[in-house]
Amino acid sequence: MPIPLDFFSVTAVVALNVMAMSAALPLAMGRRISVAARHAQYFFMCQALAWIFVLTASRLPPDTLAHQLLTLCATASAASAPWQMGQALREWLGPRPVVLVRGLALSCLLAPLGFALLLQQTPARLGWFSAMHGMCLLMLAGQCLAPHKPVARGWRYLMCGMAFGMSLMLFTRSYLAMATPWLPSFTANSSANLFFALTSAVSGTLLMVAVLVAWRDESHQQLRDMALQDLLTGLPNRRALLERAPSMLAHAQRSQQALALVVLDLDHFKHVNDAHGHAVGDQTLCLFARLLREQLRSDEIAARWGGEEFCLLLYTSAEGVDSVCARLQSALQQEAVQTLGFEVRFSAGCAHVPKVWRGLTLDMLLSPADEALYTAKRRGRDCWNLVRVNPPDTQEPSDTAPGHVPPWA
Ligand code: GH3
Ligand code: MG
Ligand code: MG
Repeated sequence: MPIPLDFFSVTAVVALNVMAMSAALPLAMGRRISVAARHAQYFFMCQALAWIFVLTASRLPPDTLAHQLLTLCATASAASAPWQMGQALREWLGPRPVVLVRGLALSCLLAPLGFALLLQQTPARLGWFSAMHGMCLLMLAGQCLAPHKPVARGWRYLMCGMAFGMSLMLFTRSYLAMATPWLPSFTANSSANLFFALTSAVSGTLLMVAVLVAWRDESHQQLRDMALQDLLTGLPNRRALLERAPSMLAHAQRSQQALALVVLDLDHFKHVNDAHGHAVGDQTLCLFARLLREQLRSDEIAARWGGEEFCLLLYTSAEGVDSVCARLQSALQQEAVQTLGFEVRFSAGCAHVPKVWRGLTLDMLLSPADEALYTAKRRGRDCWNLVRVNPPDTQEPSDTAPGHVPPWA
């Protein structure tokens, strides 16, 4: 004999499911989690709270004040959930489109507010809340797209699909509440209400999957960032340069831009450590790293190659390298005296390619740049030396330009 489903039992199972998820998530993730993961936890907590209010309200006569207050609390909790997820998405994907952020904030506010104003008109308040809640989820679905950070597609599409599906469901619910007798109230024992409760349970579980994958991706990305960053100076490290170089070389070839690899080495740095201590040596490296960063365009890279040696990969000609080195030299002279109290100098070797060819690799630039640096050191330091690198099949010899030569050389 078929057992009929009743609203209270179904809602109790759904609520239990959401409550279990909201309690399990903080336990499984632990205490030290990102801001995004924390907001995702709040999302499930708000939902669990909303279900608790709905469940309690369903046990009371519909016309009582307690019932009305409980349903109002349910709407406020339910509307806070998408707002929390919006905050998580901002952290995971970078700044979200302003229209969608404002749209979400407005719908989250208007949903319980309208419900409170229409408290005495049951179908209208349910219709209003469902429509506004649907708007919240529609805005959320939009926020899953077009990330500003390197983020995987899978979980975003899953979250977007769930939010979009739920928003359509809520718009339908709004229509049913306003224009038909099938949805007399939030807690009515109707098939439409049962259907919504069941689909929201399924979408809640799938959202949990999306959140866990997003959180795993975020942790992977943090580890990756750490592996590619120099701990002391915050600059990209050698590995980061080796990873970025192929795409920069390909870009320079496609857009027919000149390219230059500059290797810079602080002069007599051992003496800085010996005379002023290792901590001041570290400060000097950080200062130089900051000055290097200031010379870059956003699509270029400055990396710490190791010790007191740094590399720049720039989309520029020999003249460009000359002016970068000159600006760097004067900035270093000024800032070192001002902040450290002594002079710091550098020498540099540069391999520049006026026209990048297919098959050019970073390795093919590293050894001429290194040799050029060695020459600069031999010339007495505090200077830079440029060497042009030509394609292997050209007859033209690679020439060396003296760059800046110190007065005593
Ligand atoms: P040159 O002008 O020929 O480059 O001389 P130099 O003294 O700069 O070069 P050398 O290779 O003899 O010394 C490099 C020094 O850099 C030795 C090492 O202790 C120091 N060094 C390397 N990494 C760090 C670091 O992270 N912090 C500090 N404070 N010193 C470092
Ligand atoms: Mg040195
Ligand atoms: Mg060195």
